[in-house]
Amino acid sequence: MNRYFDANATTPLCPEARAAWLEAADEFWQNPSSPTRASARVHARLEQAREQLAAHFGAPAESVVFNSGATEGNRDVFAYWNRVEPGGAVAVSAVEHPSVLENARVISGGRLVKLPVDADGRLDLVALEQRLTDGGLSLVSLMAANNETGVLQPWRECLALCRKHRAAMHIDATQWIGKMPLGGLAQADFITGSGHKFGGPKGVGFLLVAGEHSGFQGQRGGEQENAHRAGTENYPSIAGMIAALDARIAHLSADGGALRLGRDQFEARLTDAIGGVRFWGRLVDRLPNTSSLCLREQENTRWVRRLDQRGFAVSTGSACSTGKEGPSHVLAAMGASSAEARRTIRLSALPEAKAGDWTALGDALIELWQDRHGDQGNAQVIQI
Ligand code: PLP
Repeated sequence: MNRYFDANATTPLCPEARAAWLEAADEFWQNPSSPTRASARVHARLEQAREQLAAHFGAPAESVVFNSGATEGNRDVFAYWNRVEPGGAVAVSAVEHPSVLENARVISGGRLVKLPVDADGRLDLVALEQRLTDGGLSLVSLMAANNETGVLQPWRECLALCRKHRAAMHIDATQWIGKMPLGGLAQADFITGSGHKFGGPKGVGFLLVAGEHSGFQGQRGGEQENAHRAGTENYPSIAGMIAALDARIAHLSADGGALRLGRDQFEARLTDAIGGVRFWGRLVDRLPNTSSLCLREQENTRWVRRLDQRGFAVSTGSACSTGKEGPSHVLAAMGASSAEARRTIRLSALPEAKAGDWTALGDALIELWQDRHGDQGNAQVIQI
């Protein structure tokens, strides 16, 4: 029985990643930039990893910059853009991860434009086109899938609009990679990814940078990563990340398969069993592993605690903001009241979750609900 429903926060190391990491840590630990034969072997493996990653995206190997994860990648895109296009406006959607929103705010300052989303949390393409037509917008940053709701963004349409208006596009694909097919992403100028979201080690990730941005530079102080990012490459973690991605992609089902079915059955059952429950983004395309549900009463922190006591790991929203901030900016942008946002919990299953795991989680939620309400819980409406 798998009771871990916080996979959008992080995932455990998958067996393939663990084996690759251990082998590399034992046998290929030398610095890939040192002038020895042993180091040359590590360097060759590093380049092989780069090719493997690029092949998954249909991108050239030179476009891959290994780094410490998506927060670094997102920050570096805005910092680079600020250097090469100091006068251009930069647009982000209102539901981006804080590593995009905060860095764009600090780096791009008054040139930052926040684009609205609809009630389902998808970018308002009409607003985007209007802003592009007005002129001056040089970069648009849109996540592929939202970490809190799982809602998929119209990144293909956004990319087409950016091309039409000659703006560059950055896609934060952190939640998409390993859960959805990668086709088409590599058309963007910049893509960020993070190993620990798909069964790889933590603290390792990558940025794909399109060829026309050959001057791209992240952190400085060395010539590693073809002079795009300084610092000794963490080859064992890179090897683990590539093994994890290979494994995930080998088992990926284009329509989400059993994962989606288990989630959808769970949502249908809870709709019948718990009065007033609602699911954010239920009517639009979402990641197959994610369900964001708003309960009729009680703060989400209490639900999280009580489920935790029963062995289920769920979250109030994004892990980064848990308990530290006000209600979710993602739900607020979708028009949720702050009371609704405070009653919302995020459930995100691991890819191997079975329908039975969702059923067990549903049982626990229904029991907790009935403990408070008895069998009348479904009919009773309590105002907050
Ligand atoms: N972008 C999105 C959409 C995320 O969900 C996360 C992590 O939750 C990040 C960026 C940051 O990733 P990392 O932990 O690799 O810095």
